[in-house]
Amino acid sequence: MKTFLFGRSSKNLPVFGYKFESSPEAIKHVLVIGGVHGDEIEGVVLARGLINSLIENPIKDLNVTIVPEFNIEGVLLGTRQNHTGVDLNRNLPTKDWSSDFKKIRYYPGPTPCSEPENKNLDQFLNSEKIDYIISLHSWKPMLNVNGNCSPISDHISEKTGLVIKKDIGYPTPGSLGTYTGLERSLPTLTYELQKGIDLEEVLNVHLQPLYDSLTLYAKTQ
Ligand SMILES: [Zn+2]
Repeated sequence: MKTFLFGRSSKNLPVFGYKFESSPEAIKHVLVIGGVHGDEIEGVVLARGLINSLIENPIKDLNVTIVPEFNIEGVLLGTRQNHTGVDLNRNLPTKDWSSDFKKIRYYPGPTPCSEPENKNLDQFLNSEKIDYIISLHSWKPMLNVNGNCSPISDHISEKTGLVIKKDIGYPTPGSLGTYTGLERSLPTLTYELQKGIDLEEVLNVHLQPLYDSLTLYAKTQ
């Protein structure tokens, strides 16, 4: 495992990434991010759990990069947005990005991709060949898929009972699912855990299915 500086936040805090490189034959690379919304600690815990699992049991023929605290300022402050007040999951440079917002909670920032956290992501996607993204959130439990997210989404759904949804029911301009999943043709799974559940339960219920789904993915061509 290699720890690296994924980038810096809007207030210059370091955002760390953890890269697991498998054998040179590994052709697929999965990016797992947690803490896009800093108050959704369940996803951070699951991302960190996955780091531990991969240290103990590396997955053959798969490269995995994990960024557990994508929005480090929000994680430290316990807020959805970064310190500047921007909802990073409404700030990505999608075709439908809009400066309109009904609630301060969804403030998309002054311009598309104005925030350093999202610039870090863009830079990473342009420099690495990523095949699949899993973004760990917590709200109403579901698996929101953008692009072909099989077999990871199917396996997790089967083991956890979470329902797979292509559409969450309202527009989310500037979101990661739209940006990478639809506009960059990069399968993107937004994994919504139940917000507020016991953190032990997050690991007990979700860690093994997530880990196994990656093992399964490594074996598919
Ligand atoms: Zn969220």
